[in-house]
Amino acid sequence: MSRTVYLNGGYMAEESAKVSIFDRGFLLADAVYEVTSVLNGKLLDFDGHMERLKRSLGELDFRFEVNRDELLKVQLELVRLNEIDEGIVYLQITRGVCDRSFKFPDAGVQPTILMFTQHRTALNPADPETGIRVISTEDLRWGRRDIKTVQLLFPSMAKMQAVRAGADDAFLVQDGEVTEGTAYNAYIVTKNGTIVTRQLSTDILHGITRATMLRYAREAQMQVEERPFTIEEAKSAAEAFITSASNYVMPVVEIDGVKLGDGRPGPVSRRLRELYIEESLKTAI
Ligand code: PLP
Repeated sequence: MSRTVYLNGGYMAEESAKVSIFDRGFLLADAVYEVTSVLNGKLLDFDGHMERLKRSLGELDFRFEVNRDELLKVQLELVRLNEIDEGIVYLQITRGVCDRSFKFPDAGVQPTILMFTQHRTALNPADPETGIRVISTEDLRWGRRDIKTVQLLFPSMAKMQAVRAGADDAFLVQDGEVTEGTAYNAYIVTKNGTIVTRQLSTDILHGITRATMLRYAREAQMQVEERPFTIEEAKSAAEAFITSASNYVMPVVEIDGVKLGDGRPGPVSRRLRELYIEESLKTAI
């Protein structure tokens, strides 16, 4: 079934949505994006995603004013038109269409904006009842991982390395310490129940699910430490898990073939998943 998508101000069938070969998103990965979850037909953390979008655009000197209400209207309309009960809305803004050059174009070049939906089943979601198995691999991405750009080739290669090794995904490691996952923030739970995740910096994406989940965890009086952890510490942790808009909170049950605990999703990860979904739905729009 063809989706209705949004491109540069209009709604259209996906087959009709066409972008120039000179678009800088296509030639130079000069584009930023956001993925917002849809649950029960509602958007989770929409305003968090809009704030991060503004930040990404600002860091890259894009000439694009984020109109929160207009973008919300389009996202809700796409959810309605495509009958998305559970899934995501993807939004991408590129710097626009011009002759290929490393120099940013002069004023007058309009950014390209596109949005589309995906049903949850098309995202191949992991099963929270079994959790995921990860491998570790060196983090070879660029140094501005806090900007959400479409330069996703290295994470895609790391994902394939994991799949070829018979695992689900990969934790990325820099100087022996875990930065994050290919498309997730990474956490461990220590034997005394403390949730540990790397502190915010240019080394990781400032996950919107991360911010919301940590807020709920602190409100529930759970202990949180924002600091680096090594891959060795992760392998001997009581639990591990990841967060992202498309996975919410997902338990990790094995790292590099080493089972965590009894090899099943642990109680802290389970509780955080429930808490995140339950609380987020209260403010979903
Ligand atoms: N880290 C990376 C590298 C990501 O690509 C993503 C999401 O795509 C995340 C973390 C999680 O961010 P969010 O919770 O905003 O989806």
